This record gives sequence, C-alpha cells and structure tokens, in this order.
Amino acid sequence: MLAPVTSASSVERITPDDPRYRAVIEKRFNRRFAARPDHVHLARSTNDVVAAVADAVREGRRLVVTSGGHCLEGFVSDPEVKVIVDVSPMSGISFDTARGAVCVEAGATVGQTFRALAENWGVVVPLGEQPAIGMGGHVAGGAFGFLCRQLGLAADYLHAVEVVTVDGSGQPGVVVATREPSDPNRELWWGLTGAGAGNFGVITRLWFRSPTAAGATGAANAADAADITGAVFLPRAPDSITTFRAEWSWDDIDRSAFSRLVQNHGIWSERTASADSPYASLWTLIELHRKQFGKLIVRGVSTAGDAAEQQFDDFLAALGEGTVAASNREWARCHGSRSRSIPSPTCSRCRRAVSASRRRTRCSRSGSPIARSASRTTT
Ligand SMILES: Cc1cc2nc3c(=O)[nH]c(=O)nc-3n(C[C@H](O)[C@H](O)[C@H](O)COP(=O)(O)OP(=O)(O)OC[C@H]3O[C@@H](n4cnc5c(N)ncnc54)[C@H](O)[C@@H]3O)c2cc1C
Repeated sequence: MLAPVTSASSVERITPDDPRYRAVIEKRFNRRFAARPDHVHLARSTNDVVAAVADAVREGRRLVVTSGGHCLEGFVSDPEVKVIVDVSPMSGISFDTARGAVCVEAGATVGQTFRALAENWGVVVPLGEQPAIGMGGHVAGGAFGFLCRQLGLAADYLHAVEVVTVDGSGQPGVVVATREPSDPNRELWWGLTGAGAGNFGVITRLWFRSPTAAGATGAANAADAADITGAVFLPRAPDSITTFRAEWSWDDIDRSAFSRLVQNHGIWSERTASADSPYASLWTLIELHRKQFGKLIVRGVSTAGDAAEQQFDDFLAALGEGTVAASNREWARCHGSRSRSIPSPTCSRCRRAVSASRRRTRCSRSGSPIARSASRTTT
C-alpha cells in the first residue's frame, strides 16, 4: 500500500554543464563503466525522491539511484541510464523513540554510521569494511563485515525500511516496510534484507534494532535513548578493535610454497569455524594477488582486546607452517569505548599509522573516528 504523495513538489535537474553533475557521475568506484544521464538530482528529502521518480516515470526516462558510489558492477554507471538520483545529501542519523530504533538516512556512509552509533549510543551494527560505502546500496545486499562472525549481517538488524516505489498505474508513493509479522509490507522488508539494492524502489531511510529488542522505549528524546545500550536495542560496541596486516613477497614464493600457504589458510578456517572457537573474535582475509602485484597479503580484525596480538601470532604461525613465514607484520589498536567509534580495517589513515616491519602502534588520530590516545610504538 503506497502512502499518497501529499504535494506536487519538484526537484532541481542538474545538467552536464554543472560541476555537480560531474561530481555525481564520477563518484563511481568501478572506472570500467561510465554514465551519461540527461540529468542528475541531488535528493535532500523523501519528497525530492518522489518528485524525481514521478518526473522520470512521466517522461519515460530510465532512472537509477546512487548512495555511496561503491557499486562493483555497472548498475549506476550504465550509458543507458537517463536519470541518476543521488541521495547522499540525506545522511542524518538519529534515534526514533517511536520505533525504539536508530534511523539512518540512505545517503549516510558506513563510516558515518559506525561513528554515530558508537559515539551517540555506544552500540554497533555489523557493517562492511569500507567506510565510504553508502548505506542505501549496502544493507539491502545483506552486508557482511569484520564483526559478522560474532554478530551476523547488518540486515539481521534491519527493523524497517522506507522505500519510494511506483504502483501499477505509474503513481509513485512512499512505503515503510517492517519486519513485524502483521505488516502487510513485510515481504518488501524481507526482499531488502538480502536481494540487493536497486531492485524494488529507492530506499530513503533504514531503521536498525535487534530482533530481540522490545521495541518502543518510551524514552522522551534521543538523549534518554543514550542510556539504553547493549542488548536493549543494538549490540554494545566492542571496547577496542585491533587491526593487523602481514605479507609475503612473491619473490619468496614458489608453486609448492603457494599451495601450502593456501592449504594452511583453509585448514585454519575450518579448525576455527565454530561459534565457540577462541578465535571467533578474529576476522581475517587473505588477498591472493597475481604475481605482477608483487605480494600476497593477509589482513585481520580482532575484538579480543589484549589477547588480539596472540591471536594474530597463532594465525600467522598456522599459515606459515611448512612454508614461508609472513613478513612486515603490523598491528594497531583503537579503543572504541561507548563514547568512541569503530575504526575500519581499511581506513587509510589507520593503516598509515603503522608502517615498519613488526611495528606495534596504538593509533592516535585527532579529529578522526577512532580514539584519541597516547601514541606508543615499540619494535
Ligand atoms: C571497495 C569495496 C569494498 C566493499 N566491501 C564490502 C563489505 O565489506 N561488505 C559488504 O557486504 N559489501 C561490500 N562491498 C559491496 C557494497 O556493499 C555494494 O557494492 C553496495 O551496493 C554499494 O553501495 P553504494 O551505495 O556505496 O553504491 P552505489 O554505487 O551508489 O549503488 C550500488 C547499487 O545499489 C543501488 N542503490 C544505491 N543506493 C540505493 C538506494 N538508496 N535505494 C535503492 N538502491 C540503491 C544502486 O542503484 C546500485 O544498484 C564493497 C564494495 C566495494 C567497492
């Protein structure tokens, strides 16, 4: 059921002679594809989206939406697309007391969301690892990340979603679909917990709440909601996040060393796969780059606090068994306590804080999402 559009609003058309047009079409991650739309829109509200969709339907122009520009395929940057609606100006994050959930506008990035959740409420949703990904394109695909071994997918916490859709007569409208069994729009919510974005409509807002949470809190305002942490509406943010990285030079790796390394990684993954493994708080990724890249890389993130370094040592020892040991081992600890934020394992500033071989660093980045702490380096 679509809520009727209340006013015949309009939204500015930005054409190729405007620098904002280029900014929208150039934010694509995958440079293989290039868009040439007739115009783009910068949506600042759900009404702007409705107006853009109404225009496109009336004029028969193919429309797509973009949030963070991190499409891996050519879905946005398709030369056949005639209109792009960019919802990135919609990036508000607030606590909705009526729903007892955090409301995130679709244009907010993963990094902004991690930061707001941790800083305002001391909680976390297990989002992906690249801070510039847009929430509008991310969550509907399920969204896995470095906390997924402990907390599942971001979509597991999706309580409700606001979507601009078009009915059979071509009339656009706004739907809020929730996971409530009694909700007639529940199927739409279900489709947006894994089917991927860009399919059923334009996502404008997402509400996050644990499936086990009680619902409306009765809190009078967002400040009250700050006292409601942990299991009540979302998982508590980890006290600290430790990121690590190590590598092998392709110069040191022959065919049998490579086979053994990959085999060791598989054995480790199988051995530590259970939910009660002492390594369940460790997430790792091996990057098997081609020879021209020069090296193979492993990266990881742990929420085990002081035990994290031992986890990395155990992991690297298991990978190196009977083959070449990793070099250039680096790690960095960021404290993400209630008032602080979750750093991303691919955050360039965080990675820049560690550089030398076997260097240990506590990150200290003023004005950045991670904790400001005394910088300490030991070798
Ligand atoms: C470097 C990189 C790292 C990644 N890491 C992870 C990861 O750790 N975990 C993970 O799960 N995924 C990861 N992804 C995949 C990423 O989640 C998806 O590509 C996601 O769709 C990107 O969303 P976006 O809004 O940034 O991209 P966009 O290019 O803006 O959009 C991507 C798709 O989503 C649609 N879309 C965008 N906004 C909306 C909206 N508001 N409503 C409806 N549809 C919309 C677009 O039309 C398009 O089809 C990664 C991608 C990249 C490029």
